[in-house]
Amino acid sequence: MEGEEGGPPAEPLRRKAATEATINMSKRNATRMKRVSSILRKKNDSLTLDDRQVLEENAELVEEYHKRRQKRAMWQSRKTEQEDTAEVLQAKCEELAQAIHDSEFLVAYTGAGISTAASIPDYRGPNGIWTRLQKGQDIGHHDLSAAEPTLTHMALSTLYQQGIVHHVVSQNCDGLHLRSGLPKSALSEVHGNMYIEVCIHCVPAREYVRTMDVTEKTSTFKHTTGRRCYRCGEPLIDTIVHFGERGRLRWPLNWQGACQAANACDTILCLGSSLKVLKKYPWLWQMGRSPKKRPRLYIVNLQWTPKDKDATLKINGKCDEVMARVMKALGFKLPRYSKASDPIFTLATPLHPAEANTASRACLVPPQEGDEEEEEEEEEEELDVENMDENMDENVDENGTDGHKDEERLEEASQNREESRKRKLDKIESTKIEVKEEKCEVKEESKEDVKPINGLHMSLGN
Ligand SMILES: [Zn+2]
Repeated sequence: MEGEEGGPPAEPLRRKAATEATINMSKRNATRMKRVSSILRKKNDSLTLDDRQVLEENAELVEEYHKRRQKRAMWQSRKTEQEDTAEVLQAKCEELAQAIHDSEFLVAYTGAGISTAASIPDYRGPNGIWTRLQKGQDIGHHDLSAAEPTLTHMALSTLYQQGIVHHVVSQNCDGLHLRSGLPKSALSEVHGNMYIEVCIHCVPAREYVRTMDVTEKTSTFKHTTGRRCYRCGEPLIDTIVHFGERGRLRWPLNWQGACQAANACDTILCLGSSLKVLKKYPWLWQMGRSPKKRPRLYIVNLQWTPKDKDATLKINGKCDEVMARVMKALGFKLPRYSKASDPIFTLATPLHPAEANTASRACLVPPQEGDEEEEEEEEEEELDVENMDENMDENVDENGTDGHKDEERLEEASQNREESRKRKLDKIESTKIEVKEEKCEVKEESKEDVKPINGLHMSLGN
C-alpha cells in the first residue's frame, strides 16, 4: 500500500518498476528484431509458413530493418572513394578552369588530400590516419618533414601570383603551402604550422620559422618546444591546434584573413578536404548571404563531403590530376616545386649551437649546388606525363569535339587570361571591396576532428 508505515517509499518503487518494464520491453524488441533480421536474410523461397507469419506480425520491425540497411549502405558509400571516369573528369576540369577564369575573388580551402602525393597520409580516406586508428590498425611512421609541395600546392601558388587565387585556408600543419611560395598574408593555416614556433610574450608575438619539425616535444595543452625567445628569454611554443583546444594565435592561424577573404569571395575551391571541420563555420561558406549571392562552390575530393549538396560542381578526382588538367586548360605550364625557390630557407632562423640538443628531428637540407641541374633533368622526364595528356587531347580531336591544336589553344587561353586579369584588376581598383566586420567565431576542435599521433600532428579532417 502506498505510504504504508514501515514499508519502502512508494515513488522510488514505482520508478524502479517502470525502468525494469522499459528494459524488459527493449530486450523483447531486440529479440524480435534479431528473429526478423535472421528471417529477412534468408532467400525468399526458403521461408517457412512460420517465418512468413512472424514477418506479417512484425511489419514495423521489417520496415525498421530495411531503413537500417539503407542507412548503413549510405554511410558505407560516403566513406568509399569514387573516381570520375577520364572523360567525365576532363569535362569537369574544363568547367572548373572556366569558373576559375571567370572568378572575381577566389579562395581555396585545402585539407590533407592535397598532400597525399607528398607521401603524407590523409586523414579520413580509406587508408587515412583516422580510418586506420578507428579500425585498430597500425598507422606506421610518417616523416612529415620529408614531404615537398605537390603539384596542387604549386598550382595554387602560381594562381596566387597571377592574381587569380586571393587566399588559401588550410587545415594542414605540414607547412607545404608556405614552402610553395604563398606569402603568409594570403594564407590561414588554421591548425598551425609544424615549422613555426612563437614567443607570445613579445608584442607583437615573435615568430621563429625553423627548418625542422618544432613539435617533437609538444602535445595537447603542452606547447613549449624547449627553446627560448632570443629577445626576451621566455619559452617558445608551437602553433599546432589539438582537439579540445581553441586556436588563439594571430599567426599562422590567421582566422582574420580567412574571414575577410570569405566575406569578399565569389568562388570557393575546396581541395582534398572531407570538410567535416570546416562545415562548422557558416561564415566560411557565407551562408548569411541570400542563396543567390552565396559564392559558387567547387569541391575536389574522392569521398562524399557534407557540402556536396551545395556545390556548383563536385569533382571526384585526385587533386594533383585535377589541378594538372585545370592548369593546362588555363594555359599554364605545370608548376613544379624547386628547392632553390623554397622560401623556408630564407625565412628560417638557424638554431643557435647551444640549442643543438633541443631538436632530434632531421632538418630540411638547403639547396645545394647542382640541385637546379637535377631539377631540369626531372622536368624533362616530366614531359612524358604531358605527352600522355597530349595523346589524350589528340583523341579528343579525332572525335571532333575539339578543333584547336594544343598550342593555339594555350596561346588563346593565355591571351584571354591576361585580358581578363586586367579587367579584374581595374574592377578591384574601382570598386573598393567592403569587408564586413563579421564575427569569425573560432571553435574548439572536437575529439573527432583531430588526434595527435606518436608525436606527429597530422593534418585535420582531410
Ligand atoms: Zn619574446
